[in-house]
Amino acid sequence: MILEITEHDHPALRTKGRRVEKVDAKIRQLAEEMIETMRAAEGIGLAAQQVGLPLQLFVLEVPHMKDRPSAMRLDGMAVDFEPLMPMVLINPRIETFGRTRIGNEGCLSFPGLRGDVPRPFSVRVKAQTLSGDEIEFEADGLLARAVQHEFDHLQGILFIDRMSEADRLEELPEDVRQLSRPALVAGH
Ligand code: ZN
Repeated sequence: MILEITEHDHPALRTKGRRVEKVDAKIRQLAEEMIETMRAAEGIGLAAQQVGLPLQLFVLEVPHMKDRPSAMRLDGMAVDFEPLMPMVLINPRIETFGRTRIGNEGCLSFPGLRGDVPRPFSVRVKAQTLSGDEIEFEADGLLARAVQHEFDHLQGILFIDRMSEADRLEELPEDVRQLSRPALVAGH
């Protein structure tokens, strides 16, 4: 079933997700429906907040893109990440590293809008999977950016909060600009 995607000022988008205590049939169904919803909307990631459920869970389906490359390492070894997609990451913890780069982002909760967002190039991720196992990997490039964007959603943070003030003024319509909360990312 395709779920409704929450947009703009929906309160779920500003709610920190609850920890998923048990990966049960309900969570598995939710993850499956979120993947279906992400694909139908042609997105590369979707957080539970975006279907109205503030939980620590997001799904990802990042493809190989020539002009926006990604890399993944499992136990320090470079791996092809595409066979691992779609990924469902539950109760994730991340550490970012590497130089901060500017990259253009969009969000299924802000249809038609794009913005330049600074983020560290790399990320180390630990999370539970649907099977209940723990997965740990490192990612660079677009995949690392997508992980950070979705992880932000789980904390109630949106990409518009991370844009520079100048870019917000130039790239966002007034009503969306009003929704940004740059203070949330300060010190994060
Ligand atoms: Zn988003």
